[in-house]
Amino acid sequence: MPEHILSGIKAIVAMKLKREGRLQREIAEYLKMDRSIISHYIHGRHPSDKVMRVSEEIVNLPAEYGIKIINSMSEDRELTKKIIENIYQVKIEIERDRCILCGECLECPYNAIFKNSDHLIEINNNKCVLCMECIYICPVNALNIKKFLPNELEE
Ligand code: SF4
Ligand code: SF4
Repeated sequence: MPEHILSGIKAIVAMKLKREGRLQREIAEYLKMDRSIISHYIHGRHPSDKVMRVSEEIVNLPAEYGIKIINSMSEDRELTKKIIENIYQVKIEIERDRCILCGECLECPYNAIFKNSDHLIEINNNKCVLCMECIYICPVNALNIKKFLPNELEE
């Protein structure tokens, strides 16, 4: 069942990208899917109504809940990151005033957290896959998800 729901979520993202003017080929590459399936999706032949209803419910959840569910559906972190960014437009942000420099978050499994030259914690959003582990591990809630502006990550 999770793979069906993931397909439904991909269909929602595919249709969104199509409305934004992306080509079928680009959408297929972005979602790591066959072009023929993307063609089905954008012509309205998406997974069953039941699957689409559940998928819609998930993408309409507050980001912190939706991200958790999407991450549980696939081990492919490159793919889940793309889907999460596309749906929720979020990144991980640190509140420096709260951080007590305990270093727990430096265990990020994707090496996306490091200490800068001023010995302060920084996040490399290009490496971050939005697995949320650092948010759960931080003892003082200094790490959170935050909405970003379009193109902000590409700067
Ligand atoms: S969300 Fe995951 S990948 Fe991103 S910085 Fe936190 S632990 Fe690392
Ligand atoms: S886990 Fe939290 S308090 Fe500890 S270094 Fe990271 S951001 Fe700072």
